[in-house]
Amino acid sequence: MKIEIIKCLQDNYSYLIIDKKSQDACVVDPSEAKPIINFVENNRINLKYILNTHHHYDHVGGNLELKKKYNIDVVGFIGDKDRIPEIDILVQDNQIWKSDIFEAKIYHIPGHTTGHIAFHFFKEKKIFTGDTLFSLGCGRIFEGTYKQMFDSLNKIKKLPTDTKIYCGHEYTLQNSNFCIANDPKNLKLKDKIIEIREKLKNNLPTVPSILNDEIECNIFLKAKDVESFSKLRDLKDNF
Ligand code: ZN
Ligand code: FE
Repeated sequence: MKIEIIKCLQDNYSYLIIDKKSQDACVVDPSEAKPIINFVENNRINLKYILNTHHHYDHVGGNLELKKKYNIDVVGFIGDKDRIPEIDILVQDNQIWKSDIFEAKIYHIPGHTTGHIAFHFFKEKKIFTGDTLFSLGCGRIFEGTYKQMFDSLNKIKKLPTDTKIYCGHEYTLQNSNFCIANDPKNLKLKDKIIEIREKLKNNLPTVPSILNDEIECNIFLKAKDVESFSKLRDLKDNF
């Protein structure tokens, strides 16, 4: 299984999960159809599924056009069946979604939205976290509660520490500024920031991140309780 990172819109990432043998693929959160179609056509990919982490436009914007063109199924959270465009396959918390070689466990991780989910390809140790866990940050709380977001992040935190994190946006540099301002003595974070700057300088994505790095460097994952988490979230909103 190979992951292709596709830049979309301003700072979104969509991901193609490709079976190298068959060239079958799923696309995670197609913000827009065009960059996906370009890659699919140029590389003779057989697009089979759209996997949506949540209903926001910058994650589902390409659903309609891709479905029309490739006649594929859209997989999304059962609770968002009325607001994920073109949804076909409804999944719920802790369910395993499987098709051929693609096999992911679904986690309901509310906070950013009430219906946010993550797709965990547990055999490959890769998780698609949408706008819940970012590298060195977490999503804004639009619909859920602080407690929900805190619990959702803790769910992800318990996965194997070598799990790769594929998130919805390239926010890592801005996030790192907030982390270092609040955790100025973190040497591991300082090293990570050097890495991040180097990647961005070379026009490379900073994703995927490794869960272990996030546990050591992401200030939101270091919050001990929901009170300190809430304080950090508020500070970040005004940073
Ligand atoms: Zn969002
Ligand atoms: Fe987003």
